[in-house]
Amino acid sequence: MVAVVKGVVPPDIATVAGLGVLDVGENRVQEAVRKMPLLGGPFPGGLRFHLIGHLQRNKVKYTLGFHLIHSVDSLELAEAISGFWSGNGKVAGMLVQVNMTGEPTKSGFPPALVKETLPRLAELSGLRVEGLMTIGRQGAGPEETRGVFRDLRRLRDACSGGGMEMERLSMGMSDDYRIAVEEGATILRIGRAIFGERRSRQVSHMG
Ligand SMILES: *Cc1c(COP(=O)(O)O)cnc(C)c1O
Repeated sequence: MVAVVKGVVPPDIATVAGLGVLDVGENRVQEAVRKMPLLGGPFPGGLRFHLIGHLQRNKVKYTLGFHLIHSVDSLELAEAISGFWSGNGKVAGMLVQVNMTGEPTKSGFPPALVKETLPRLAELSGLRVEGLMTIGRQGAGPEETRGVFRDLRRLRDACSGGGMEMERLSMGMSDDYRIAVEEGATILRIGRAIFGERRSRQVSHMG
């Protein structure tokens, strides 16, 4: 589980980390970079930051501290990550974001392009493709959501092998994480169910 900490102040993040949740997700890269030094100290091995929101190519230079980039949504972005990370002698863990619902406002590769894109990503130094990520459609019913998650898993299975270990499936948020687990998610991204609605910024009990 990745605790999504957008809009959450560092003391509340520290509370959750103190309970053993060391994976935290931010959708804005600079917000995460600002919080990282505030949270470095007391946790053994430190917190692992996950980038879950759209990343502009000119902000790739801020990503070196991230454990996993969930939101790679174009070949050009992957190339920029590759160039920057390999130039720093490091390898970025990344997921391919897939727009399973076809919503025009949502970023991500169309599912039909994922299979042909993966070999091109595999050729890039400085990054390692570890799996796929998607966001369900907000307001969708459980059957639609289940279909979306199932299709992502099938796509992952269809893309695995041939030298690519696509183990990770990042899918499921506060409203749909149970369905995601049933459909094979390996990473859940949970914000409101942990911290409450963003306005209150309180640590709440998980339902
Ligand atoms: C905000 C966000 C989440 C968490 O959503 P909640 O509904 O608060 O659990 C997960 N993934 C992404 C990409 C997000 O932007």
